[in-house]
Amino acid sequence: MKSFDFVIVGSGLTGATMARMLADSGHRVLVVEQRDHLGGNVADALHSSGVRVGLYGPHYFRTSSEELWRFVNRFGRFHPFEAEVRSRVRGRLENWPVGAGYIRRTIGADWTPEFRGVPRNFEEAALSMMPRSIYEDFVKGYTEKQWGAPATMLSTALAGRFDVRADDDPRLTPTRKHQGVPVNGYTALVENMLAGIPYELTCDYLRMRTAFKARKALIFTGSIDAYYEFQFGALAYRAQKRSTDYHADADFVQPCVQINEPDPAVPHIRTLEWKHMLPEAARRRVRGTVLTRETPCSVQSRGDVPEYPFPDVANKALYQRYRALARQEPTTLICGRLGEYRYYDMDQAIARAQTRVRQLLEMQPWAAKQPSRLVPAGA
Ligand SMILES: Cc1cc2nc3c(=O)[nH]c(=O)nc-3n(C[C@H](O)[C@H](O)[C@H](O)COP(=O)(O)OP(=O)(O)OC[C@H]3O[C@@H](n4cnc5c(N)ncnc54)[C@H](O)[C@@H]3O)c2cc1C
Repeated sequence: MKSFDFVIVGSGLTGATMARMLADSGHRVLVVEQRDHLGGNVADALHSSGVRVGLYGPHYFRTSSEELWRFVNRFGRFHPFEAEVRSRVRGRLENWPVGAGYIRRTIGADWTPEFRGVPRNFEEAALSMMPRSIYEDFVKGYTEKQWGAPATMLSTALAGRFDVRADDDPRLTPTRKHQGVPVNGYTALVENMLAGIPYELTCDYLRMRTAFKARKALIFTGSIDAYYEFQFGALAYRAQKRSTDYHADADFVQPCVQINEPDPAVPHIRTLEWKHMLPEAARRRVRGTVLTRETPCSVQSRGDVPEYPFPDVANKALYQRYRALARQEPTTLICGRLGEYRYYDMDQAIARAQTRVRQLLEMQPWAAKQPSRLVPAGA
């Protein structure tokens, strides 16, 4: 049996941040990862053309926190990158989020949101922010493809990620102070975060629980339902099927990194052109370009990669049942996007992981006679 102060399951940003902080505070840490690479959902790989491709979708790093920006820059240089997204509507590529110019052109300057009152579902929440035609052209088809469910069944909380612009700024998130992409990619960033910390790849902790002993605490950043052997049933996730093509003779195919396809008749949901994410000098060295199409699907079997927690009431309630079990394990912390069954942007995942470590070191539940609980507050 391998014995460490902390055994951390998962080498995504949550596990890597916690491992780094715990190791920096003098603890012996082991990271166990089921995949054959580090980085979790942010992992990437270099295509033979020199284009870096995200293995599990595109990742645009954004934060307005100086502390967080300093933290990630400790592990790799970022080059400035602000994502631009267009949506294909009636054959034209329009800015996403929808800009004021498009609304003036198609609706006029005077418009009021379609829905008034307290929204009960995603459709109502979206219609309280935008005219119906914008909702139908840009949002409804995209959202229903993404979740494989009617927009009226989905949570109002999803609408928090949408906005209708008062200007025509084409940037996806213009208000975030620091935006970029690691020059050497996210996998290298996570490798640097784990420098000097032992890790084991291709090791599914759940199949080898007894092989590891955590003297202080076990930190599990995989799916909470899997940890409890799906005893109440499986939490629903959406995933993506990805197909990647190399276009040897094209310099660029798209005007920007991401083209959304809200038309319900088109099966895929978006196309990424990775070359846009490279620093200018690296772009010039690449011949051709690499594109990935993403088509949403449900997680059906254990081999599928769970990506987005399903935003409805039934799954929220199911998660609460698992969380109640986790509360009874004083020296186990189940956290991260899969452990808390919650979408976190990268900066949020890192910030949350940092908070968890500070709480752990303060509470020291392993030292107490009556260990206090480690379930994330407010999860
Ligand atoms: C498609 C997509 C696009 C995104 N784009 C952005 C973006 O542009 N900007 C942004 O800020 N955020 C983005 N995110 C969010 C970002 O991916 C997450 O914030 C981040 O990955 C969270 O890291 P994590 O460590 O919590 O989870 P993960 O990265 O999923 O890490 C969990 C790790 O645990 C491992 N694991 C699970 N079970 C076991 C087990 N039994 N044994 C061993 N290992 C195990 C997994 O293999 C995985 O490596 C995106 C998310 C998705 C799904």
